Amino acid sequence: MAAKLLDGKLIAKALKIDIRKATDHLAARGHRRPGLAVVIVGSDPASTIYVRNKRLSCEEAGLVSVAHDLPATTTEAALVALIDTLNADPTIDGILVQSPLPAHIDPHAVIERIDPKKDVDGFHPYNVGRLALRKPLLRSCTPYGVMIMLERSGISIRGKDAVIVGQSNIVGRPMALELLMAGATITVCHSATRDLEGVVGRAEILVVATGKPHMIPGHWVREGAVVVDVGINRLPDGKIVGDVEFAPAAERASWITPVPGGVGPMTIATLMKSTLESALARQGLTE
Ligand code: NDP
Repeated sequence: MAAKLLDGKLIAKALKIDIRKATDHLAARGHRRPGLAVVIVGSDPASTIYVRNKRLSCEEAGLVSVAHDLPATTTEAALVALIDTLNADPTIDGILVQSPLPAHIDPHAVIERIDPKKDVDGFHPYNVGRLALRKPLLRSCTPYGVMIMLERSGISIRGKDAVIVGQSNIVGRPMALELLMAGATITVCHSATRDLEGVVGRAEILVVATGKPHMIPGHWVREGAVVVDVGINRLPDGKIVGDVEFAPAAERASWITPVPGGVGPMTIATLMKSTLESALARQGLTE
């Protein structure tokens, strides 16, 4: 393997230690610890694991996690009423509603109900708009986590050709805005893109978020590229793999994220960071 590992697990651990220091410092000065409300509706197995990891990370980082585990039969009106309560609660700095929501609930209505200043997932149109205008407030955790990982690894972005495969609202689009803001020249690919191999082959920074196991063959990767694989796919044998063929891609790349242990842990650590930032901003404090 020629590529260096973009070790999200290690970088996330360091980030959580920094956050812990900041939250301990807040508590030592007599301020309350940041509060994150984690709302889950129903019992989707993958979501349940994500939520449990987020709550454990809160403990590690010295945040207060408040659990709202609602039954799958919860109505949209009841969920929105809970959001209103959390918006008004001064001890809550961040509100996270785990997706996917049951089909009878409109996710947009729920996201738009969250106070943008407590929208630590960065999904509210206000926060997406702020990012588009280069004035970010709360930033979508996965793309923001990728940026922190690249920065902490000393990878320069300005002037680079960046290709993002996937255009979802939660990964691809905000990822493109993040890389654009950092000075990359960006291309966003999706299922209607012609000559995906040719476009991917030009990428100095390649971010893939399609949810299709191994859809990017390793030989497509440009020599020396930085490869960030956001995909998390469980194969029938239970193995977790990304959207990029890891071993052959690692032969060509200069840096590559493993799956698991790459972007996933960064997403959670970034959620902690955003909750801390929200708590500081809402109280007019600095670290
Ligand atoms: P979506 O299904 O919402 O989006 C997938 C995107 O991939 C779409 O834009 C789609 O294009 C594009 N795509 C699909 N097939 C192709 C193809 N053959 N060629 C080009 N583009 C294609 O997925 P998400 O963005 O929500 O998630 C993507 C992956 O990232 C998943 O594996 C998910 O589990 C993972 N994930 C990981 C996170 C982490 O923390 N590590 C966080 C969030 C997600 P089109 O729009 O045209 O349909």
